[in-house]
Amino acid sequence: MVLVIDSHPYRYEAEALCRMFLRGRELKIFEGADIPEEDFIYTGIFGDEISVRIKMDGKDLSAKAETSEVKAAKMEYLLYEILSEITGLEPKWGTLTGIRPVKLALSMMDNGLSAEDVRRKFREERLVSEEKLDLLMSTAEHERAIRSLSKPESVSMYISIPFCPSRCSYCSFTSHAIEKAAKLIPQYVDLLCEELRGTAVLMEELGLRLETVYMGGGTPTVLTPEQMDRVLSTARNSFDFSGVRELTVEAGRPDTITPEKLEVMKKNGVDRISINPQTMDDGVLELIGRKHTAKDVVDAFYMARSFGFDNINMDLISGLPGDDFDKFRKTIDSVLELEPENITLHTLTVKRSANLAGDAQKMLSRSVDEMNEHAFRCFDEAGYYPYYLYRQKGTVEALENTGFCKPGKEGIYNVFIMDETHSILATGAGGVTKLKDPHGSKIERIFNFKFPYEYIDRFDLMNERKEQVKDFYERYPL
Ligand code: SF4
Repeated sequence: MVLVIDSHPYRYEAEALCRMFLRGRELKIFEGADIPEEDFIYTGIFGDEISVRIKMDGKDLSAKAETSEVKAAKMEYLLYEILSEITGLEPKWGTLTGIRPVKLALSMMDNGLSAEDVRRKFREERLVSEEKLDLLMSTAEHERAIRSLSKPESVSMYISIPFCPSRCSYCSFTSHAIEKAAKLIPQYVDLLCEELRGTAVLMEELGLRLETVYMGGGTPTVLTPEQMDRVLSTARNSFDFSGVRELTVEAGRPDTITPEKLEVMKKNGVDRISINPQTMDDGVLELIGRKHTAKDVVDAFYMARSFGFDNINMDLISGLPGDDFDKFRKTIDSVLELEPENITLHTLTVKRSANLAGDAQKMLSRSVDEMNEHAFRCFDEAGYYPYYLYRQKGTVEALENTGFCKPGKEGIYNVFIMDETHSILATGAGGVTKLKDPHGSKIERIFNFKFPYEYIDRFDLMNERKEQVKDFYERYPL
């Protein structure tokens, strides 16, 4: 299939919209006016006139529209209508392809639209389904309450531990299986502590206030108890923690959680952890390369409870290879039985870098939408509500990832990062510091080196880049 972009700059928007319908079919992109012989999707904009023609699967349909308003949105609308007619598919998020639909809704409300106006606009102009509108607006209401906690001087911090006990087949993060990378960890921890101390000095100089801290990965609990203690106590001793609302550690894989590590976390004031099953079906766990069982998840969960952890998140994924509706239903039941405070439901993302074996690819679930609907219903009945959501490129059926919580147990960092409420100062390999104008919407990024060996080898150079934080706050003062 060829996508033709004729005389307009909306290549990204056209491609994202088409991919929602093409479901993995190859898509080549040509810029220009030539229409190929083979199946194609043509998009052209000349002045106020938008033209779309699609030849696909033996059908040849076209449409034109005139608009003096946002042309990309109108082009997406025409593409959606025709692709829907040809394929019979109706993606529930309509023509919305961005990562942060809630942020979009909130900014429309900030600009004076009522919640009802936003619903109407999304329904009529972006073809969003009623089901997703309900999810979107309910999430927006809870996100809005959390983001109001932030002040101009607020920032949050991310601490990256990019190592895992083994690599999961669906993973596309930059994380390194411990067997190969273990020898790097001691030096990595030394430098991470140095970066934390430097970041604390910088924050103090700039008068910034730390709101939330998130230690993620990878799997931070691959560190030994002593290494975890060093990182966490360095953070606590370097920064002013008096105003910190939340300190999360993504314990992640249950096979890495031990009483000693839970004790270290408790001692250092960690008040929120994640224990992520992804699925509670042992066959699926094996197929996706997780080297633990569902029982390990339950044991780790109760062990954490016995150490007094009363805010636990559990990540699940719908659409995993080998999963089906029945197994998924049992996963939801087992997780709800544990009564975690947060449950985050991800839709599987099939990215090129993920190592999903051929057989597993073929087994990808076909009923992910049904699974998500079922989960949402069960969470609602069990007293959870959605408090943040985001979309990723390439999720099965173009669906979303949603965080649910019991009342008052929102993962605050998650909202700040998804809403882009304030600056996130990232430390460690792969960390991306995202600087946000305290009084506007300007955002700039500073990238740490991605791989641990680069982080170690080029630490000084990377540290120098942090000077850009000062420069940013001089240009965008508190
Ligand atoms: S534990 Fe998480 S980060 Fe690590 S390999 Fe698995 S999915 Fe990727």
